[in-house]
Amino acid sequence: MSNNFRLRITNHRKIFFNYTRDISCFSCGHDLHDSYTVSGNRGKTRCVPCAVKYHIIDEIPEEIKEFV
Ligand SMILES: [Zn+2]
Repeated sequence: MSNNFRLRITNHRKIFFNYTRDISCFSCGHDLHDSYTVSGNRGKTRCVPCAVKYHIIDEIPEEIKEFV
């Protein structure tokens, strides 16, 4: 199974698999290289658990639950 899952929530919020970018979670500092990343407003990026915690997304999408 590949990690091609990509979900656009709104124009400014989307979930994608970060293969290359050297970024970390805005909230917890977790290294997001090679992991699912949620981009929110103002260019802030978060790991999926933090995105749920801070209400960027309502819940972890079923498709990626086993990967986060
Ligand atoms: Zn985080």
